Parts: sequence; structure tokens; C-alpha cells
Amino acid sequence: MRVLVTGGAGYIGSVVTAELLGAGHQVTVLDDLSTGHADAVPEGAEFVRTSITEAHDVLAAGRFDAVLHFAAKSLVAESVVKPELYWQNNVVGSFALLESMRRHGVRKMVFSSTAATYGEPETTPIPESSPTRPTNPYGAGKLAIDEMLTSYAVAHGLAAVSLRYFNVAGARITPDGMLGERHATETHLIPIALQVAAGLRPQLQVNGVHYPTPDGSCVRDYIHVLDLADAHLRAIEWTREHSEGHLICNLGSGGGSSVREVIDSVRRVTGKPTPAVDAPNRPGDPAVLIASNAKAAAELGWRPTRGLDEMVADAWTFLQTRQPSESAG
Ligand code: UDP
Repeated sequence: MRVLVTGGAGYIGSVVTAELLGAGHQVTVLDDLSTGHADAVPEGAEFVRTSITEAHDVLAAGRFDAVLHFAAKSLVAESVVKPELYWQNNVVGSFALLESMRRHGVRKMVFSSTAATYGEPETTPIPESSPTRPTNPYGAGKLAIDEMLTSYAVAHGLAAVSLRYFNVAGARITPDGMLGERHATETHLIPIALQVAAGLRPQLQVNGVHYPTPDGSCVRDYIHVLDLADAHLRAIEWTREHSEGHLICNLGSGGGSSVREVIDSVRRVTGKPTPAVDAPNRPGDPAVLIASNAKAAAELGWRPTRGLDEMVADAWTFLQTRQPSESAG
């Protein structure tokens, strides 16, 4: 298919672009480089540097079959203090993109949604039928876009898949090159722990040690970015097979790892001491977030195959190849 990938210079977007190219799709990446990196756009993809609000020219010129929409701001804490950035960039931006697609007759979309649409869960694992009560503007905005897609599917014959990511980690390591996480502001546990292992930070904090979990630290559901990419390829096939409709699927392993278990994995894989200190709870952190992935299995035939140590090992390989000047933050 001829696919437009918004946010294809970012971590997940670049990995999915590489996998799309490998599967024989024709890819154009649209990215404003506000957080992405031009050198992350895989060779073989056309690159257009612009924002999603300006997508109409690209869509008019490209005759695309589908859009994979990754471009978004994605820092939960920032969304709480600067909600306007999230409503503007994510919600208004996605609305502009959808309208451009409608005008140019592009009726297939795969969208990066999030576990943050659910908020504090009532049940574990979390099925897609759970109440959606986001606890921050990031999650609220992603939920608003999911609702947009549902309404466009009903009214305008859109075939869309929203993939609700849980905790994505790892890297794509191939002889041709490596793609992984390099955020200017790093907030995620695995890259931070690896920076400690590499000696780029003195220690990491375990955010909360008295949660009602087996070891007292928070439990999250981690999946490898390559398993995530596989789900996107399957989602594109779903949009090819359906002329309209909106499918929402969680992407998680169905199991969880605590913060302490992640740190143990980092120590095991890297062989580095990786000092960690107990710290207060991070405001708004639920104790346990684990996906039910039964729907993704049933609807997309998707099953994650890579475990925590493999994610940590691939992210470690990626981190070690980076330039020191890129590593801080
Ligand atoms: N976490 C931590 N120390 C850190 C970064 C994160 O203890 O330096 C915890 C965080 O509080 C949460 C878990 O690790 O319980 C996963 O956090 P992350 O930010 O990676 O993902 P989130 O689940 O918030 O999307």
C-alpha cells in the first residue's frame, strides 16, 4: 500500500516505517522534527518536513491508500501543566489531518492511542470495554481522537484501527542500522535505568515502594517495539479488508513487571550495578496497569513474542552505539 506515516522520525514511527518498507509498502514520512530526528527516517521512505495541520498538500499530491498517525506530544506530566499544547497539537492537529484525508478520499487510518485513555483501572487485566476515564490531558486528548475516528467511521466510511499502547520499549537492531528511543526529555523507566547502567546518570529513583503489589513498586505491561510494529502491519491489513468501521485494540503482553523487576533485568542484561533509591510515589501513578490483549489476538491475530530481557538488551545495544552528546537528558 501507499502509506503516509505521520511522526515517522520518532521512536515508534521510525521503527514501524522500517518494518513497513520491509513488508513492501511504499512510505512517505511526514514529521515536523519537533521531537523526532531526520536521521531516524529509514532509507527508502520519502520524507516531508511539515506538521500534521499542513498535511493537505502532501495528501493531495500523494494519492495515499492509508495514514498511520503517530505524530503527537506524549509527555503526561507536561500535558498536566501545559494542556493547551496537547489540545492544539494532538486533538486539533488530528482533526485537521482527518479533514484533509476526507477531502482527498483517504479512508484508512491506524492511530496511536494509549492505555492512558482508561485512567485508574477497575479491573486487571484491562479489556477495551473498560470505562475510559483519563486522568490527564494527554489521555483525554487521545480518547477524543478515538471518538473522532468512531464518528468518521459511521458518517464518512472511514476504516480505522486505534492501537492502545501500554509500555513500549526496546529497539530495532539490524545489520543496516539501529532505531530506538532518544528523547530530549527522558521520563521512561527502561531508558532511564539504562542511562544509569551506562554511567550517564548517578542513580535512578523507584517512584513509590508501598503500592499494593508483590514488591511494593508499580507494575506495568511492557512490550517490544518490534511486536508493536507487527501489530501495525496487521492493523493496516484490517483496514484493507474493511471498507468502514473502527477497531480499538490494546497492545500489551497481558502480563506485568514491577519497577524493581525492570531494574533487576537491567542489572542482569548489562552486568552493571545500576544504583536505585526508594523515592515517593509519582503523582497520578496507578499501582498496576496490565492489558488484556485478547481482542488484538482475536481481531488481528497478534501475539507479542519478545520478553522483558530482550527489550532491555536491544535498548542497551542501541544506547551503547549513540554519541555521548546525544545521551544526556
Ligand atoms: N519509574 C520509576 N523511576 C523512573 C521512571 C519511572 O520508578 O525513573 C516508574 C514510574 O513511576 C512507573 C513505571 O516506572 O511506575 C513506568 O513508568 P514510565 O514513565 O516508563 O511509563 P508509564 O507507565 O508512566 O507510561
